[in-house]
Amino acid sequence: MVTKRCVTCGRETTDYVSFKCPVCEEEIVRCETCRAKGNPWVCPTCGYTDG
Ligand SMILES: [Zn+2]
Ligand SMILES: [Zn+2]
Repeated sequence: MVTKRCVTCGRETTDYVSFKCPVCEEEIVRCETCRAKGNPWVCPTCGYTDG
C-alpha cells in the first residue's frame, strides 16, 4: 500500500485519489475525506486551484 499526502488537508493517507495538475502535470493527491467534502485543492508546484 502506498501512502500519499493530501494536498488539501496535509494528512498522509492510503485512501486517496490522484490525478495530474492540468497546468504543470504534477501529481495531485486528495484524501477520500476531502474528495467527499468537495474541499478545494491547490497545486503545490504551480499554485493552480480548482476553486
Ligand atoms: Zn485531505
Ligand atoms: Zn500545477
